[in-house]
Amino acid sequence: PGPRVPELLAQGLSFSFEFFPPRDEAGTVALWETLRSLERLQPTFVSVTYGAGGSTRDRTIGITRKIAVETTMVPMAHLTCVGHTREEMTQVVRDLAGAGIRNVLALRGDPEAGPGTPWVTAPGGLTYASQLVALVRRLGDFSVGVAAFPLGHREAATLDDDVAVLLAKQSAGAEFAITEMFFQASDYASLVERAHAAGVTIPIVPGIMPITSLRQVTRMAELSGREVPASVVSRIAEQEGDAEAVRRAGIAVASELCESLLSDGAPGLHFYTLNKSKATSEIYANLRLPVG
Ligand code: FAD
Repeated sequence: PGPRVPELLAQGLSFSFEFFPPRDEAGTVALWETLRSLERLQPTFVSVTYGAGGSTRDRTIGITRKIAVETTMVPMAHLTCVGHTREEMTQVVRDLAGAGIRNVLALRGDPEAGPGTPWVTAPGGLTYASQLVALVRRLGDFSVGVAAFPLGHREAATLDDDVAVLLAKQSAGAEFAITEMFFQASDYASLVERAHAAGVTIPIVPGIMPITSLRQVTRMAELSGREVPASVVSRIAEQEGDAEAVRRAGIAVASELCESLLSDGAPGLHFYTLNKSKATSEIYANLRLPVG
């Protein structure tokens, strides 16, 4: 079996990339071009998301297996509780083990009717990510990571409740956390401070989503339930009408955020790549990170 992510995180700054399973053949070809291109940056690990209700189950397992077998990169598979019984989740974890995957990001998932609608536990299923963490840890020698939220999860009543949940995930066996996208280094610093005060000791890796189009600003707000800060929107909107200038402004904003996070002591950076290599490669170059 390959390395465990928590051990890689303990060795020094971690740079990781996230991908989603494509729907069609063209998307698959594009994903593999991106993976091969980003492989040159020698990421610490790469992760593959899990679609709602198990819709990507076989593709998530297939892609992580192929990354493990055919590339030099360490894969991690995401898994959610959406629409699954415990038995189904157990079977997915067994399939991952069979594919040689030992790193899992355990998530509850968003409600089936969409982010922000009420959560409904599937019959025979699980209600909280912490329960999935415990299930995966019981099933074998997996490293398990979880989600964390710099501005609090949209369903959490208070920020204290939100970090109590992160602590519960740690107690259930989570060994690291990756955050939702955010745009101000101070939001990450506040999460880390709250988490430490609550007794969280696992590394919390900030998640970075470079904005490369104006449409993405709206989409991000819909997904997280949080507005992109006005200061960020205005820097990008100033370039409206010039797609390349919009992209450059987005990369500059993300690069500055990454610099602040690293100088504030973040254990690494996790990039939401959207299956493209360009933005991540450009931020890497701006940060003068070692390549190859
Ligand atoms: P939980 O930790 O279970 O929290 C969900 C809600 O329940 C929170 O409001 C929490 O405060 C509350 N809660 C938890 N435990 C308790 C308790 N004991 N008592 C009371 N309230 C409680 N989604 C996908 O579908 N596929 C993916 O691959 C995917 N990858 C992601 C990767 C990252 C890095 C991140 C940050 C998110 C990802 N998501 C993914 C989205 C995620 O599934 C949603 O944000 C989801 O709404 C919350 O998941 P969670 O694991 O944080 O849930």
